Amino acid sequence: MFQRVLIANRGEIALRVIRACRELDVESVVVYSQADAGAPYLELADEAICIGPGPSAKSYLSIPNIISAAEIADVDAVHPGYGFLSENSHFAEICRANNIEFIGPDVATIRRVGDKAEAKAAAVAAGIPVVEGSDGPVNNDEEALEVARKVGYPVLIKAVSGGGGRGMRVAHNDMSLVTNLQTARTEAQAAFGDANVYIEKYIEDPRHVEIQILGDKKGDVIHLGERDCSVQRRHQKVIEESPSPALGNDLRTKMGRAAVKLAKSVGYHGAGTVEFLVSGKSFYFIEVNARIQVEHPVTELVTGIDLIREQIRIASGETLGRKQQHVNFRGHAIEVRINAEDPDRNFAPSPGLVTSYRPAGGPGVRIDSHVVSGYRIPPYYDSMIAKVLVHADTRDEAILRMRRAMDEYKVDGVKTNLGLHRRILRNAYFQRGEYSTRFLDELLSA
Ligand code: ADP
Repeated sequence: MFQRVLIANRGEIALRVIRACRELDVESVVVYSQADAGAPYLELADEAICIGPGPSAKSYLSIPNIISAAEIADVDAVHPGYGFLSENSHFAEICRANNIEFIGPDVATIRRVGDKAEAKAAAVAAGIPVVEGSDGPVNNDEEALEVARKVGYPVLIKAVSGGGGRGMRVAHNDMSLVTNLQTARTEAQAAFGDANVYIEKYIEDPRHVEIQILGDKKGDVIHLGERDCSVQRRHQKVIEESPSPALGNDLRTKMGRAAVKLAKSVGYHGAGTVEFLVSGKSFYFIEVNARIQVEHPVTELVTGIDLIREQIRIASGETLGRKQQHVNFRGHAIEVRINAEDPDRNFAPSPGLVTSYRPAGGPGVRIDSHVVSGYRIPPYYDSMIAKVLVHADTRDEAILRMRRAMDEYKVDGVKTNLGLHRRILRNAYFQRGEYSTRFLDELLSA
């Protein structure tokens, strides 16, 4: 096991990793930017090191600054959290070149699955159904038009290096395809430094269902079931739950097996997510996230397995220590993301001073948050205030519990999406589990 781990992240996930390290009896060193100086969670680590000014490019995305901090702190591993450098193969390579273990898969695997077109090719090679579309990036308008005519409109233009629900455009005919292709390339270049895009059939009313996997360095891989993340606003997840109300046992088994097969075929180790779209009884691979995800606690609640602890154990060379048949699922878990967002301004980020903060509590409620009363949410990073999770025996009970938690919650000083959560939890379609990725955008435009 490692002695000291550097946490190259901030906010709730930095705190989550600090807690896992403590429970493993591993020392934690957390980095912070000047904008995060004085944040209460920093005190819970064994050491905290400033790595630069507020803007991420100068701190949380600065590889030289983070490597210097790792050298100064004399750590033997780096946990990248999610976002920032978590899927940056170059960062992983530099860590390992400096004899610091990167807590994540191999450099070659991160590179391979990080390119969405390549990941899709790997899924095809493993015999896993994918959404019909181009074989790899499209090079010009003619190629794109040819693919669109083959699979039929509407089609989706997706950035090869895209993420976070950004860099996607729908086209309904030849003309909009050509125009959107140009815009998508320009946007992808600006956002991800890679103008390559590929084309996929646009599935009209899918559910987003992802499988959590865990693999060790000896090549054993298991899955920990699914999370349904179909409640999305503009392709960004807002509520996640497990089990998915849309999956029967047959589909669940097939998708779990497909995810494990794909992970094995690319030599995956660590925690990862294989994302699928589900339409009726069919499922289609869309991408792999080679990192821990925001919504990982949903899986922790239904399986009782601490995913951050597993990540650290696996990176240090330990084996999984359990087989697929030893993973037991219990009850139903739901997560909502409370964000500092202004519902009256199209959910634009609303950072600032949280004058008063009173989280929910009580039976079956888990709060993952770094926020306290008097905390100032910096303008530079994502606007998440808290992840609120509930666990109960049944889905109906979990919904009632989450309604209770949302009603207890009080955040003053900044605008939040709490009202939206209260509304979704009382929506009849949501309550019946009848929702697709279009549900929330439709609810908001009604
Ligand atoms: P990102 O990495 O940006 O999150 P994903 O490929 O995971 O991108 O897709 C995010 C969301 O976009 C999905 O959950 C789904 O709502 C939508 N999406 C992606 N591909 C398709 C598709 N082919 N048809 C319909 N919706 C899609």
